[in-house]
Amino acid sequence: MIDNLAKEIAARIGKSKVTTAPEDLVCYSYDCSMYSGKPDIVVRVESKTDVIHVLKIASQKQVPVIARGAATSNCGAVIPTNGGIILDMLGMSKIIEIDMDNFIAVCEPGVITAHLQAEVEKRGLFYPPDPQGLSMSTIGGNVATGAGGPRAIKYGTTRDYILGLETVLADGEVLKTGGKVVKDVSGYNLTQLLIGSEGTLGVFTEIILKLIPLPETKRTLLCIFNTLEDASVAVTEILHHKVIPSMMELLDKTSTQLIQMYMDAGYPTDAEAILLIEVDGSNEDVEDQVVIVKKVCESCKARSIKIARTKEEEEAIWAGRKAGFAALSAYKPVVIPEDATVPRNLLPEMMRKVQDIAKKYDVLLPTFGHAGDGNVHPHICINPRHADELDKVNKIKEEIYREALNLGGTITGEHGVGIVKKELAKKQHSKRSLTIMTAIKKAFDPNNILNPGKAF
Ligand SMILES: Cc1cc2nc3c(=O)[nH]c(=O)nc-3n(C[C@H](O)[C@H](O)[C@H](O)COP(=O)(O)OP(=O)(O)OC[C@H]3O[C@@H](n4cnc5c(N)ncnc54)[C@H](O)[C@@H]3O)c2cc1C
Repeated sequence: MIDNLAKEIAARIGKSKVTTAPEDLVCYSYDCSMYSGKPDIVVRVESKTDVIHVLKIASQKQVPVIARGAATSNCGAVIPTNGGIILDMLGMSKIIEIDMDNFIAVCEPGVITAHLQAEVEKRGLFYPPDPQGLSMSTIGGNVATGAGGPRAIKYGTTRDYILGLETVLADGEVLKTGGKVVKDVSGYNLTQLLIGSEGTLGVFTEIILKLIPLPETKRTLLCIFNTLEDASVAVTEILHHKVIPSMMELLDKTSTQLIQMYMDAGYPTDAEAILLIEVDGSNEDVEDQVVIVKKVCESCKARSIKIARTKEEEEAIWAGRKAGFAALSAYKPVVIPEDATVPRNLLPEMMRKVQDIAKKYDVLLPTFGHAGDGNVHPHICINPRHADELDKVNKIKEEIYREALNLGGTITGEHGVGIVKKELAKKQHSKRSLTIMTAIKKAFDPNNILNPGKAF
């Protein structure tokens, strides 16, 4: 059956785009989670028409279809759990238009996020969403996961920059939602419903994005604190003093120690917490913001404050944060990034709970957080060859997310649900919410062929 299906697809869209070679299928069996699963067929689509043909055939035969960007998902969102067709979207990587009058970009889903950012910045425009895998991840994947990053505190996440989508539905029909307008209140907002749908409602083939003017300049501060509480009070106080930093990242002591073991980022290894803060805006405004942030941190008992004076110093401060995952991976072979979000003022409480869990299970749980938006990333660092360490993983996860939900938070701020958090999603959402979500899924994809078994 698979051979016939592959032949039928190849006949429609071209043989060179379709593969069932075992070595190819293995390569498409993984993402950045601990899960794996082999597809039956991989199709490297190059156009909307290719996507339409594949979905028409797949829906007739009721075969699962999983859209795949760069496979940087941390939650198994692109793992074929029951075979089927992987749609590799990387061949649809054109930036179709950068509209300088309306501050809008239109692109195909396979465009790499950092590439889009660089192209618009050359023209003095700015696409702020900055998931940390942005040099690899695609805009389509970012939209499908509602990706966010450190700049969320000031600029929001991917969701806030999507004005319209062209989506191929399960039966191969094309749905256009939104458009080049910044205001539109007619009907239900299907564009926002599709954002974060993890490939379960349709396959994006064109994306309309909002751009803003590129800030004139930016400055970085490294603020060192003796307690998590002092750092957290500083976060709130900075906002009360009417400064919204473009990034405000909190790292705990374990993280800074492991990063310093890996590279010299200039972080202290004996401080309970450090805040990395970036402010941006006009030249004059940025100078004022630096003065205010410095004063506030001093009044919140910062032990020391370093203000980067050159681009090199600024890059060195952020290099440590960016290398965080690599630093932890150098220390333990498997690093599982968790992703809870709590109300911002409860961030230190959440980080304390994580430290308690680390002590209880005798594991390292280095934690970085987007201090500005309450999103914490405890990283479970284990050696899977040690059965006792592996056994603890699920218990640790359960405790982290129980604490997050008890604090009024969520089981995922940005990575998504995929297969990794499906059971946890049931704990977060009421039965009624899940019933409504199931009905929405049925309306879009009655035969459940689009990325089945993911998201909720
Ligand atoms: C080192 C590292 C750092 C990371 N940091 C962050 C971070 O700071 N913030 C954050 O949010 N995430 C982060 N992530 C997770 C990941 O990068 C994001 O979820 C990203 O948005 C996934 O993009 P992708 O192109 O790799 O998509 P994939 O992983 O390929 O797919 C993700 C989901 O999108 C769906 N999808 C992909 N393309 C389409 C399409 N065209 N139409 C419909 N559905 C589609 C897939 O089916 C899947 O459900 C990080 C991952 C790594 C490895």
